[in-house]
Amino acid sequence: MKKFFCNCTAIIFFENNQCVSCGSELGWCPACKTMRTVISDNNGNYHCSEQSCGAALTKCYNHAVENVCNRFLLTESVTGAAEAFCDYCRFNETIPDLSVDGNREKWHRIEIAKRRLLYTLDMLNVPYGNSQDGFNTPLSFDFKGDTEKKRLLWLNMGKHEQVFTGHADGKVTINIREADDVEREKARVSFGEAHRTVIGHFRHEMGHYFWDVLIKEKQEEEFITIFGDHNNPDYGTALELYYENGAVPGWQQNFISAYATMHPWEDFAESFAAYLDMVSVVDIAFHTIPVNPIDPLSAGFKEIADQYTQLGLLLNEMNRAVGLIDPVPEVYTPAILHKIEFVHDLLRNTA
Ligand SMILES: [Zn+2]
Ligand SMILES: [Zn+2]
Ligand SMILES: [Zn+2]
Ligand SMILES: [Zn+2]
Repeated sequence: MKKFFCNCTAIIFFENNQCVSCGSELGWCPACKTMRTVISDNNGNYHCSEQSCGAALTKCYNHAVENVCNRFLLTESVTGAAEAFCDYCRFNETIPDLSVDGNREKWHRIEIAKRRLLYTLDMLNVPYGNSQDGFNTPLSFDFKGDTEKKRLLWLNMGKHEQVFTGHADGKVTINIREADDVEREKARVSFGEAHRTVIGHFRHEMGHYFWDVLIKEKQEEEFITIFGDHNNPDYGTALELYYENGAVPGWQQNFISAYATMHPWEDFAESFAAYLDMVSVVDIAFHTIPVNPIDPLSAGFKEIADQYTQLGLLLNEMNRAVGLIDPVPEVYTPAILHKIEFVHDLLRNTA
């Protein structure tokens, strides 16, 4: 990620909507495609403070009203009285029930992860779109929590819905419980996972999305040579087998995670997520660390993987120094890198 600066020269983070140094309002300018200091006319109208831009800007509805976004739209693109959503919020189809205590905070954390996810996809210039764009596999997001049975003493009714984080036909569903640190950590320990994060969920589910967009009926044969046959056994059978028997011993040689052993689709989604981890970390290094940086947009896969491994060691050490878990706990064997290289080629050739 690039470094962003306020007009006062203070550094701006991608998540901010106000400068911590001078208090100026900040946000994403879609014309500059960068975080900028914005100037308000006190009537709800804004413009970009960058002299060479100066675009007239309108706050995304989720920024102005819900306070979970920090992006702007070009005012000229805002039509009518409808709630105007930014380029990233327009993919939201379901948002959490905001009458439930704590849901707004969870939603905010989910939006922060979603913005980073989409930033990386835009950086890699891979195709996605929604139904308004007429995109073939329209992407949409559902963010919702499990609903409890209503405690009606005189009637045992009310709907109980358990929400599963997953992907189906372009719709990515995230159970907002994943944005609760305590709940997520409990799940991580009980599933024996090395790490579990909101952005990790997004990156994994987008792997399923891009399998549909880029591989289905296009590169299935090539896919099978690397990941195995996704039709045999079918997904349902593979799922049952996995929950019955667990991962095969020694899986670490060929799979990035135990879950990846379940079915070729999960292996691909896990490899896809690992690739987004790689390019995000290497990209941050490219823009911040002045030591032999490489640009993940032009570097070869081997260079990216080598640098990621080196930075991974550094990141782990830095996190251990302050008592946090390893951000890069995986071991990247040649077999695993071969799969991630497939993702690299797939996205490079599509961009
Ligand atoms: Zn400032
Ligand atoms: Zn601008
Ligand atoms: Zn927005
Ligand atoms: Zn999956």
